[in-house]
Amino acid sequence: MGGNSSKLPDSYNIVIIGGGFAGCEFAMKLKEKSNKFTLIDGKEAMHINTGALRASVEASFAKKTLISYKEMFGDNFKHGVVRAIDTNAKTVTLVAGDEVVTYTHLVIATGSVGLFPAKLMMTTSTADALLLYRKQVEEIRGAKSIVIIGGGAVGVELAGEIATDYKDKQVTIIHPHHFLVSGTMSERFQKEVKEQLKILNVKLILGERVMNTEIETELAIRCTGLTANKFAYAATMGDKMTIKGQLKVNEYFQVEGCENVYAIGDCNNVDETKMAYRAGQHADLLLDNLVKESEEKEKTPYKPGGTMMLLSIGREGGVFHLPNGFIFGSFPTRHLKSKDVFVGKYWKESGLKCPQD
Ligand SMILES: Cc1cc2nc3c(=O)[nH]c(=O)nc-3n(C[C@H](O)[C@H](O)[C@H](O)COP(=O)(O)OP(=O)(O)OC[C@H]3O[C@@H](n4cnc5c(N)ncnc54)[C@H](O)[C@@H]3O)c2cc1C
Repeated sequence: MGGNSSKLPDSYNIVIIGGGFAGCEFAMKLKEKSNKFTLIDGKEAMHINTGALRASVEASFAKKTLISYKEMFGDNFKHGVVRAIDTNAKTVTLVAGDEVVTYTHLVIATGSVGLFPAKLMMTTSTADALLLYRKQVEEIRGAKSIVIIGGGAVGVELAGEIATDYKDKQVTIIHPHHFLVSGTMSERFQKEVKEQLKILNVKLILGERVMNTEIETELAIRCTGLTANKFAYAATMGDKMTIKGQLKVNEYFQVEGCENVYAIGDCNNVDETKMAYRAGQHADLLLDNLVKESEEKEKTPYKPGGTMMLLSIGREGGVFHLPNGFIFGSFPTRHLKSKDVFVGKYWKESGLKCPQD
């Protein structure tokens, strides 16, 4: 490790694009090593999207999923959307007024885009986010039957939230595959997830696509895949992207051929399931390596590991999948995740107080 007390040289001027799990973790730790950095995000608050689905059923929960960047980072936060990066001039350009920000080191942490309620758009204000979730809670409360389109982790977690809080609603998941969550998860994991959904009376239509199937329902919610958010870099760094829009990085998260430019979290092409805890690991290792590099010490390469997943199924249930394939059921999963879907952890790390009900 670079040594927790080590500072970065005063000549470093680090710009971070994106304040999700990767960018915020990086900036929170960076605060201890330098005061010369800028975190740029189009939103006003970090969205703890692990809590997005609880916020879709519990009216007072949404405010717990949004942590103000201004309160976390003060004047080191710049509100805006990056539309271009010039790695030769070492600048990023914002949409508003074509404002240009210079850097010595650039950390791209632009994450992924997906549909509401799982994700917010990168320009959604905090007030609008709270309104959107309030509306979603009301729509779910008012519908007797709800179809969830997509049985990935997001679709399964949303079904779990609704079916736990509303025993009287018919919740159906329609999914094109015969497995749920991901084809990489073990048979035992699949069996446990399906059993818990069955106990909650969630109906599964597997191996079917919506366009081939007719179902009558009062409300349909799309929970389909997430893709890399390439808006900041697509225009000028197209040759550094994979076909999926992720930035190609080496084992130190350096973007292919770009000196002092790094990509961490969901927007890089590290071959692993994209997860918040992984985004945090990328951030920690990158910062340690920047310190090591400034001290001319040997850097540590990143090694992707197997998949660890805590899948919550409502407030009480869930399945915990370890990288060695072992699984555990509701009790540890409730304790580790389902009870507050990680919002407490991120508020604690921010040093701020989580709003109460
Ligand atoms: C509903 C849901 C539940 C999940 N549950 C879990 C879980 O339990 N455990 C787990 O480990 N993972 C979970 N994940 C996955 C996890 O949320 C992602 O892996 C994580 O969000 C990745 O973090 P990130 O910082 O890379 O990107 P993001 O969280 O997507 O953040 C990217 C940030 O960059 C900003 N941004 C993007 N482009 C620009 C631009 N051009 N200019 C300015 N700002 C920009 C965005 O506004 C955003 O704030 C879940 C995902 C979802 C959707």
